[in-house]
Amino acid sequence: MSASERGAEREEVVAQLLAHARFLASLGTIGVRWPPSTTAVGESAAVASPRDAGVSATDGDTSATDADAAGEQPSLDAIRATMGDCQRCGLAGGRKTIVFGQGNPRAELMFVGEAPGADEDEQGLAFVGRAGQLLTDIIEKGLRLKRADVFIANVIKCRPPQNRNPEPDEILSCQPFLEAQIRAIRPRVLVGLGKFGAQWLLKTAQPITRLRGRVGEFDGIAVMPTYHPAYLLRNPAAKKDLWEDMKVVLSLLGRSAG
Ligand code: URA
Repeated sequence: MSASERGAEREEVVAQLLAHARFLASLGTIGVRWPPSTTAVGESAAVASPRDAGVSATDGDTSATDADAAGEQPSLDAIRATMGDCQRCGLAGGRKTIVFGQGNPRAELMFVGEAPGADEDEQGLAFVGRAGQLLTDIIEKGLRLKRADVFIANVIKCRPPQNRNPEPDEILSCQPFLEAQIRAIRPRVLVGLGKFGAQWLLKTAQPITRLRGRVGEFDGIAVMPTYHPAYLLRNPAAKKDLWEDMKVVLSLLGRSAG
């Protein structure tokens, strides 16, 4: 190997190590600070109520409380209010809406996806595009639950430009909110959809192909990592694996696959 090839190889290794270090930093730890910092990128963030933002954090629970002041678990609406017109990362400038997530605040089952796409950004709701339609089928036809009975959220709450992957700093900025949502809902089972949902919940950098189908744990809650519906749209043959994973989810919920 020539000196220039060795130099190029060294640079490649350093770049990979840096990328991995950034990824590990983005994983953070479970149970970090609440309430999170309101410091914005550039200026301080305004804290608006969910209604000011035109979004309800839940499909039912509307009782925002001053629980955080009392050191208790904040409600979903209180978490949404704390987000305000979030400016904590660079995605704020390009989004139309913050996609907080929606569903039953007392859901036994919660799905965690990656990030809003164009349809979600437009409507302010998680998983309402093509991938969302497939997720609805998985919930209603596969699991025989109502979509309104589960909770659906994403690792990050603002659409990345051109639907690129979330960056570590964006994941970190949203982390306290997703953690607080999970603690508020306290589902029996969490489903991590795709690489980002699964890796975030399991605090690992392992590929989704390795993770899927193996039950893990987040803060004492069972986690099933599985394929992202968008991946299933491109690879319908993988639906077979998804169904195996959903059967395990049903048994974790104490339900039969009937
Ligand atoms: N993909 C996701 O990961 N989340 C959404 O809300 C929509 C598509």
